[in-house]
Amino acid sequence: MNKPSKPSQPASTSNFIKHVIESDLSAKKHIAIRTRFPPEPNGYLHLGHAKSILLNFGLAKEYGGSCNLRFDDTNPEKEEQEYVDSIIDSVKWLGADFGGKALYASDYFDKMYECAEYLVTSGNAYVDSQSADEMKKNRGDFTHPGVDSPFRSRSSAENLSLLKEMKDGKHPDGTHVLRAKIDMKSQNMNLRDPAIYRIKRATHHRTGDKWPIYPMYTYAHPIEDAIERITHSICTLEFEDQRPFYDWLLNKLADGKLLERPLPQQIEFARLNLTHVLLSKRLLIKLVEDKHVDGWDDPRMPTLAGARRRGYTAEGFRRFAERIGVSKANQMIDYSILEDCMREHLNEIAPRRMAVLDPIKLVIENYPEGQEELMDVPNHPQKPEWGKRQVPFSRELYIEREDFTDAPEKGYFRLFPGNKVRLRYAYVVECEGWHNGVVRCRYLPETRSGTPGADSVKVKGNIHWVSKKHAHQSEVRLYDRLFSAERPDRTEHLNPKSLNVIQAQLERNLAGTEAGAVQFERHGYFMADRGGFNRTVTLRDSWTRQ
Ligand code: ATP
Ligand code: MG
Repeated sequence: MNKPSKPSQPASTSNFIKHVIESDLSAKKHIAIRTRFPPEPNGYLHLGHAKSILLNFGLAKEYGGSCNLRFDDTNPEKEEQEYVDSIIDSVKWLGADFGGKALYASDYFDKMYECAEYLVTSGNAYVDSQSADEMKKNRGDFTHPGVDSPFRSRSSAENLSLLKEMKDGKHPDGTHVLRAKIDMKSQNMNLRDPAIYRIKRATHHRTGDKWPIYPMYTYAHPIEDAIERITHSICTLEFEDQRPFYDWLLNKLADGKLLERPLPQQIEFARLNLTHVLLSKRLLIKLVEDKHVDGWDDPRMPTLAGARRRGYTAEGFRRFAERIGVSKANQMIDYSILEDCMREHLNEIAPRRMAVLDPIKLVIENYPEGQEELMDVPNHPQKPEWGKRQVPFSRELYIEREDFTDAPEKGYFRLFPGNKVRLRYAYVVECEGWHNGVVRCRYLPETRSGTPGADSVKVKGNIHWVSKKHAHQSEVRLYDRLFSAERPDRTEHLNPKSLNVIQAQLERNLAGTEAGAVQFERHGYFMADRGGFNRTVTLRDSWTRQ
């Protein structure tokens, strides 16, 4: 049902990352740029990842380069194939083109190990056999320099044979660690001989039990980037302090001819923080495991899988990313900005339909029993080219409960005894009263919409309806914020009213078909999902005003 809308391609705004890329290209440092999106497959992607995906793939597209999807699967205990599959799905859904083939850090384990042997033989790494506690103690802190490990002066030959034994599974977990040999007194804690390999017997989702040792993320990541000839390795700000190690490592390996220059350049940007949600896989896993939600793709979840079921669109995310921009300063973005972007896009693509969410009956006493008419109803008020559909009208209708009252307050223009309203796209009716739970009306036959007499009676209220006989009853899920707190950090902040499941009466055009995104007039945008409809977003921002 979704009709394509005119591509609106606003000139994309500049930012500090583009400046770096542009100057690298004009200095001919690279012929073409290559970026990457490197998720760890330890959960589903969340809304924060959308920012990173759109940034990395967007830059590649804008500068005629390419972008890899690479799984950073160096931590076997927390990683699963289910996560890999869902991540690929979400990346594709966002419209990111990774050339159809996902890459895996685990495919480079051999190369990473070869690099480790080189670091050992060139005197840039050593096997440390201190206990974890000793290692921690000797690392110092921000005010105290670290202390060299007693194993730091092992010979290359001894280090190499120990490393080989580690790889061959000759030592128990945790007994030795391979460390880069840099400077235990560095101001930057990350340069105090960081660990690069640990012994860990764990089954990897791709390499199985082949490796009893696994590289540390901070060691693996730069090598992955260099192997793939990434030009600009864009990451979030918390990695800023890792950049000196990133550069140290790659330069050593390039000096040893294990990697080629030009080496990738790490650039940091501020991660997306949104009000009313949690953007951390670790915390999202908890919501799923403790069954606060109905799985990772629960439409209330701030995951891309959830957002998609909720009815958010990839284009809406693109507009959002463009609107919030890219910066070096951390900031909190109001969730309503994301909703605005979705609303704006859905307004362009969603056909209009009538749906009564909280039904009461209305009977038109002077409308002949058994008579039916088909009313012509526009599919989109601003898009006449989308045409009209026919909606059946009859003597008994459903209207919204809130569209009738027998005790109207000042300014209430809808149905109350003695008042007239227009039944949208149909007739003006006058309310006679309320009896046995049914609103009683008379209609004015000369006022049918689209006929010359339509405007002969002026009314202030205009309400939607569904013919009772023709209605399609359906489950509709109304969602609210998952967390009521603006900056949630625990489950007590969950909004107990985040889901409200109702039975609604819909116009029959919504039955049967996979409707996609629709607007229920006066109610909001909805997405067909699992035999019912999910409310994506209300027509107006109802939260900020509260
Ligand atoms: P989480 O803390 O949720 O597990 P993560 O950073 O550990 O997130 P990764 O799978 O390592 O998750 O992230 C893949 C990429 O997405 C990284 O480059 C990371 O910097 C980026 N990313 C993660 N969260 C955000 C965010 N909130 N905003 C922007 N980019 C993000
Ligand atoms: Mg991570």
